[in-house]
Amino acid sequence: RAKGAGRNRYRFFEPEMTVASQVRMALEVSLRPALARGEFELHYQPRIELAGMALVGMEALIRWNHPERGRVSPQQFIAIAEETGLIVDIGRWVLLEACTRTRRLMDEFGRPVAVSVNVSARQLAQPAFVDEVRTVLARTGLPPECLELELTESALIEDIEHTASMLRELKRLGISLAVDDFGTGFSSLAYLRRFPIDVLKLDRSFVLQQDQDVSTFDFIKAFVDMAHALNMAVVAEGVETGEVLDLLRAARCDQAQGYYLARPMTLSELRSVIEASGAPKAVTR
Ligand code: C2E
Ligand code: MG
Ligand code: MG
Ligand code: MG
Repeated sequence: RAKGAGRNRYRFFEPEMTVASQVRMALEVSLRPALARGEFELHYQPRIELAGMALVGMEALIRWNHPERGRVSPQQFIAIAEETGLIVDIGRWVLLEACTRTRRLMDEFGRPVAVSVNVSARQLAQPAFVDEVRTVLARTGLPPECLELELTESALIEDIEHTASMLRELKRLGISLAVDDFGTGFSSLAYLRRFPIDVLKLDRSFVLQQDQDVSTFDFIKAFVDMAHALNMAVVAEGVETGEVLDLLRAARCDQAQGYYLARPMTLSELRSVIEASGAPKAVTR
């Protein structure tokens, strides 16, 4: 708002400066120094194995504690961070923080703990990304089999040959690779076969919106079977009810995350969940 503009003066608004774009601009301005000011924090959402309901790991999810706006959701600022390139530095912090904390949890509980970290296309496109992951593993001492990177379908459609060779390099580090939000993009299982993917994370909408010709159960079951034939484990995201959980289990889906099972939580809340659980198994099948 043009503050102090006199009664007879015109205010200058760019025609496209809608409320939404003003908020976006304000967020962008405060996003730049947020990392240096220590405003980010990771929360963790438990991932459960459906056969025995055991905790198998957790997904690290960034939280931004904005000094004036309070908690800003990643849905609001991750896109801005991606467009501005800030995601490269933020993502580097997320990876180091997640691996550091997970390694400490392992030491505390005396058993392996697995963590999944979201990686955006822009990070993956950095030539030094593989080295960065290698360095973080070395620096934190997190066993590579305890780390999984979640990539979006959009990260896999750019330069197929280059991306495939890069993912093979990441696999050589011994880590696991997942495709996040599967079902929201354009890719198919046939397409994903080109990449060394261990885990498919089914977007919440994939399970909830199926067409009426085929029953949801038959569809999910066929999909899970196909993924297994390609040696991929299937994780369902956003499970909010016991009915959906039962359906997924009956369809032999491997693992799930969702509010019905556990919400994303602070590190100290996670400690009690790990404490109460048995020894987590490996993340992948
Ligand atoms: P995502 O990776 O698909 O993460 C799952 C999102 O679904 C999380 O939202 C989680 O809180 C939410 N969720 C979990 N269970 C349920 C449920 O039962 N119902 C519903 N409706 N939602 C559920 P969140 O934490 O707001 O994150 C949103 C997105 O922001 C993430 O989606 C991911 O794409 C991105 N994001 C979060 N943290 C990071 C990060 O560190 N780096 C990058 N590059 N992206 C991140
Ligand atoms: Mg994710
Ligand atoms: Mg997801
Ligand atoms: Mg999702």
